[in-house]
Amino acid sequence: MDCIMETKQNFTLKVIRELLNHNFTVLLYNTEQLEDVCGGWCWIDDDKKEFAVAMKHHMGFEILIHEYCHFLQWKTDRKLWDRSMETYDILFDWINHPLLAINPFVKDYNVTSQELDQSLHDILEIEHDCEKRVLKIVKNCPIEDFDTDKYIRAINAYLWSYHLNRELRLRPKHPIYSERVLKYMPNNFNTDLSFYLDKNNLTDSIRQALLVEYE
Ligand SMILES: [Zn+2]
Repeated sequence: MDCIMETKQNFTLKVIRELLNHNFTVLLYNTEQLEDVCGGWCWIDDDKKEFAVAMKHHMGFEILIHEYCHFLQWKTDRKLWDRSMETYDILFDWINHPLLAINPFVKDYNVTSQELDQSLHDILEIEHDCEKRVLKIVKNCPIEDFDTDKYIRAINAYLWSYHLNRELRLRPKHPIYSERVLKYMPNNFNTDLSFYLDKNNLTDSIRQALLVEYE
């Protein structure tokens, strides 16, 4: 996608066109969030290709561009995409399991801590790569009114929250990009994945700000 300066609306139209050309179902909802306290998804498997965004979310456009970059990963780096798909759900299945275990015969979700660590690693790998793509797009092709500073704060909230999901076996109860959280997030992005893999770089102020969303 080459351009000089783009409006959000034009960029959105280009994204929709490209997705339709790849036989995606594109669902742009006039709501603030989708099921599961989620803002969007780019779902791809053998029988379904679906792209969904809650456009009334206060970061609806940012979610659209993020999910679009997941599509680009699938399109241009199938190896990374396929690897991540194998392990992405392990962490979330483990977190959700106590809620899903309505069946008394289901005792526990058997997963080793190595498998959980691998899942966390692979999630951070694909999400960090996705964010690098977003920042590259908005740098090469500036989008009118796109708030890069805010977007980078959201990246930090998003990536660090996965460490807390793993540590607490919980998902945030409230959207992790609240204005309150973003205020406490750093506005610089580290292009090196290893920075986000190392929990020692999760500072106390980031942790405290994120933890409120889990209470
Ligand atoms: Zn993502």
